[in-house]
Amino acid sequence: MLKFQKINSILSEMYIIKIKVLTSDDTYLTVNKNQIIININLDYKYNVSQLIERLTKIKLPSMGNVCIDLIDYKDKFLFQVLLEILFANYAKKYSKKGNNNKQDIVIYFLGEINEDKNRQISLLNSVYWAKYIADLDSLDDGTPESICKLVKNHFIVDKKVKVNIIDEINLKKMNLNLLSSVGQGSINKPYLLELSFTNNPNSNETIALIGKGVTFDAGGYALKNSDSIRTMRLDKCGGASAIAIFDYLVKNNSILNIVVAVPLCENTITANSILPSQVIKSYSGKTVQIDNPDAEGRLILADTMSYIQSKYNIQTLITLATLTGSITITLGKYMAGLFSNDRKFAKNFMIHSNKVGDEVWELPIHWQNTRSILSSELGDITNAPIKKYGGSSQAAAFLQEFITNETKFIHLDIGGTGVSDNRATGSMVKGIINFLNNGKEGGYYDKKGK
Ligand SMILES: [Zn+2]
Repeated sequence: MLKFQKINSILSEMYIIKIKVLTSDDTYLTVNKNQIIININLDYKYNVSQLIERLTKIKLPSMGNVCIDLIDYKDKFLFQVLLEILFANYAKKYSKKGNNNKQDIVIYFLGEINEDKNRQISLLNSVYWAKYIADLDSLDDGTPESICKLVKNHFIVDKKVKVNIIDEINLKKMNLNLLSSVGQGSINKPYLLELSFTNNPNSNETIALIGKGVTFDAGGYALKNSDSIRTMRLDKCGGASAIAIFDYLVKNNSILNIVVAVPLCENTITANSILPSQVIKSYSGKTVQIDNPDAEGRLILADTMSYIQSKYNIQTLITLATLTGSITITLGKYMAGLFSNDRKFAKNFMIHSNKVGDEVWELPIHWQNTRSILSSELGDITNAPIKKYGGSSQAAAFLQEFITNETKFIHLDIGGTGVSDNRATGSMVKGIINFLNNGKEGGYYDKKGK
């Protein structure tokens, strides 16, 4: 995370960062005396995600203390540009390298950071916190239990936040059997992490955001191959993003009621792991035939969705998950797949997400996929039909079976966008926040209606 600290004058060992907007297409840095000048063309033929990619590739020199004079950044867009560059260069990344600097980096500034700029900073800190949590080591600080502890300690000071952690014994008692069954194959026991923030007393509506938190996905008895297993500690990045989004909403005192739920578990192989053809009774009462132990994300999400809908008055439910590999066949690594039970709602989401650089594309939940999901021989529903066409849509069709009639549902498959070069990307943190901010007339939470 980056910390911003006010100073009254620039000290001699500080480097002040300025941006010079060019008319040519070059990007270069000039360093003279105590100034770093970023020379860049911001004239935009580029779309937002292209621009962000370009900005995050600018490598600032790793020199001493850096400082910004806010007088240079009165313009909101220019400040945003600066933040993208600062975060990409100086925000601490999760690492176990021997020389890893554990200190938070401080950016010094002259002038006043107003509420708007604070929000911009807070937004990028959320993206980087999402990346950090997702990057944690599966067998150390990134187990289901460690993540629960981390999050609980983080919110302990905030009286408005309720943290509810359901352990394995209680998952079983409460019949969250899909989640407990996936997690039962590991020595790192499963948990359901539930965070709620009730900050709009004038509304009885609660938004649910459910993020997949598989802390390591070996595939279970459908063991992944050596290529696809490599980055599977990052199968928790949907959950990590959901936690970071929640943090942003709380920190900015957003006027809304939201519950974030993250089913956390490991999908590994032991004598206790779930077996193909096993039938498990879900929290909703529907029985699920396990035809592929590697299609575990939809199982743990389904139970969480049913539980959250039964506990709260949910009108809007969003799932965020590295759910399928097949989404990369359809949309590459560049866009998240969006599935919904409501066209208008989906379109509205896409507009707000694309605007901030989290590109999404709507895909159908085709009735044939629903039919194939319901073609289980032994249970009410299968987690992996024999016909594997349209894998991402089948996964969405499975989830939709656990939506109650009144709930508007959006499922975001970040199997492609969530991970890059064995690192989490913080995919959809900005997109979901912007949607919650501006997606509903007048904004879900922005008290000023900006
Ligand atoms: Zn899997």
